[in-house]
Amino acid sequence: MKKVVNLLLITAPLFAVDLIFFGGYILTMDDNQPVVEAIAVEGGRITAIGTEQNIIKLRDWRTKIVNLQGKTLMPGLIEAHCHPIATAVLSQVVNISGFTYNSRAEIMATIGSAVKNASPGKWVLAFGWDPVLVKDLRNPTLAELDSISTEVPIFILTQMMHQAFVNNAVYKAAEITRETPDPPGGGMFLKDDNGNLNGVIYEFSALQHILKKMPKTPQGTAELLLNLQYAKYAKAGYTSIAALGPVDIAGYPLNFMANLSRNADVPVRSFVYPLKKQLDQSKWPSGYGNDHFRIKGVKLYMDGSPYTGGAAFAEPYLNTEVTLKRMKLQPNHRGKVNYSEASLLQTLTKYHNAGYQIAIHAQGEIAIQMILNAFTEILEKYPRSNHRHRLEHNALITNNQIIQAQKLGLTLSFFMDHVYYYGNQLPQIVGPDRAARFMPLGSAFAAGHKTSIHTDNPATPVDPFRVIS
Ligand SMILES: [Zn+2]
Repeated sequence: MKKVVNLLLITAPLFAVDLIFFGGYILTMDDNQPVVEAIAVEGGRITAIGTEQNIIKLRDWRTKIVNLQGKTLMPGLIEAHCHPIATAVLSQVVNISGFTYNSRAEIMATIGSAVKNASPGKWVLAFGWDPVLVKDLRNPTLAELDSISTEVPIFILTQMMHQAFVNNAVYKAAEITRETPDPPGGGMFLKDDNGNLNGVIYEFSALQHILKKMPKTPQGTAELLLNLQYAKYAKAGYTSIAALGPVDIAGYPLNFMANLSRNADVPVRSFVYPLKKQLDQSKWPSGYGNDHFRIKGVKLYMDGSPYTGGAAFAEPYLNTEVTLKRMKLQPNHRGKVNYSEASLLQTLTKYHNAGYQIAIHAQGEIAIQMILNAFTEILEKYPRSNHRHRLEHNALITNNQIIQAQKLGLTLSFFMDHVYYYGNQLPQIVGPDRAARFMPLGSAFAAGHKTSIHTDNPATPVDPFRVIS
């Protein structure tokens, strides 16, 4: 017996590991040692990297060894800003995206046939209305949608999810009249010159208000869809996702996501930034969660989307066919901000002092400057190291603002698909000069930022390597 013990002591390495990879191109993302021959994993963490010869010594009888056979192994990717529940549920609704269709006639026919086939009590939810990509896509009027149906509620969500078009059946089902006040948070039930509802629902808080009245996706279906969505992220190469402002389509989203995360097989980690009104601070403090679900911060909206007239740019939108005819903006339109200086300061201070990471949507220079001013004041009064508050999207952030953000310790997350998918149309919306400095990722790197990039899906499709390239 003694002999056997001795033998084990001699052959077993001091720190045997669970898993070893070798035989491929192993990227470390460490500039000092960008490629290694082998890595060892113990307890879910990488514990050693180095030559195949050295790493292989860490094995014992229980170690699983993977020969990569020339393939590349790299760290998992992080989707810095997405909406997993919306992506999961919207994958099932009527697709009218400009990535799929290129004429108004096709899109209206698709909506029409969905309405015709709708079962009683069901809404028709169409997603992807995109007058920027689809050249003849005039926005629909209330009368036009009523002419399709006065019974079936029709809810048409724009690709960037900042605006929707509805018929009167939606107003009826959601109990919205011309007297209904706009919800807090910048959303609006838009009206015509006579003060009558005009079929346009503007910005997130108003959209949420209506979607909550929509018949809920059954819990089991929603769970299945969200699990499938997690698998799609994993397949695309993501191991972590940041969910910024989870939607209420399938019931209270935080409970829903937290419950699903208890399943040990969930293939991605979710870092969650609830909306203000979802965030009961006593129940969901910053850092609450487990390895698959963690509350990180809060999601706020300072302005809206460039493609619905919502971005608070320093200069007005151009007056062109795209902005006036397709986006239906007034001449010399300017986007508005959702907060006054005082209310912004108060809101940011509250979440900053409660320890949350604040992620705030900002596209235009005016929106961005107000945020920078507020954080300057807050961080002077209440310094907090490594707060890493986030500015989301940053379409027209200026070089000075980039530098100012860097000094304040704010991080920038860019929505590069605006350039990839909408780049050709941007000169028609903001002119060539501003189009040329849209989403200035390079300037952020030059200023020393560690930035992130995102797809904001379902706004654009899940595909990290498109975004990176
Ligand atoms: Zn988003």
